[in-house]
Amino acid sequence: MRLILLGPPGAGKGTQAGRLVATHGIVQLSTGDMLRAAVAAETEVGLKVKDVLTRGELVSDDLICSIISDRIDDHDCAKGFILDGFPRTIAQADALDELLEKKDQRLDAVVQLKVDEGILLERIETRARESAQARSDDNADSLKKRLAVYSEQTSPLVDYYSKRNMLMSVDGMKSVDEVAAEIDTILSTV
Ligand code: AMP
Repeated sequence: MRLILLGPPGAGKGTQAGRLVATHGIVQLSTGDMLRAAVAAETEVGLKVKDVLTRGELVSDDLICSIISDRIDDHDCAKGFILDGFPRTIAQADALDELLEKKDQRLDAVVQLKVDEGILLERIETRARESAQARSDDNADSLKKRLAVYSEQTSPLVDYYSKRNMLMSVDGMKSVDEVAAEIDTILSTV
């Protein structure tokens, strides 16, 4: 099973991806986690993207696509994967299409988590307060930027996948268990 979890920051993509890892035995590919790990390890990529992440902007399409393309080739992705935080632009979605085709793979579904903006702000503020490892981008300025970037650059993907009849939407404002159950129902149909 290969799927995309699509939704704004704070929609619950990471939480639901974690559930799917446990229930479906597939890996979670969170580009945000990969980039944060690179920053923490002070790798060449990490040093390059550190400030971009803190500002809440997007790193370049080329960089993120090459990271994902390499990661998908790893052995643990053979049974499938959940893309969490990728693609985030139309260019990335086009590149994903192309790279999967080259690898003779295809996506099974795109699951959209729909959440009101007011709830997102609340959730991210709570995460910032409660998280043991504070994220450099969980602050008010960066948060506003991330939501704006989502609406400008990522939300067009809803239409993009909907036109390809791949989009399935879930009410992300329900409880974690209810959302997980809805996703399971959807995935049982693909
Ligand atoms: P996330 O954990 O998914 O909210 O991502 C945290 C940050 O990593 C984002 O605000 C971006 O700076 C960067 N990032 C993650 N995924 C991508 C992507 N697909 N394209 C560009 N930048 C990304």
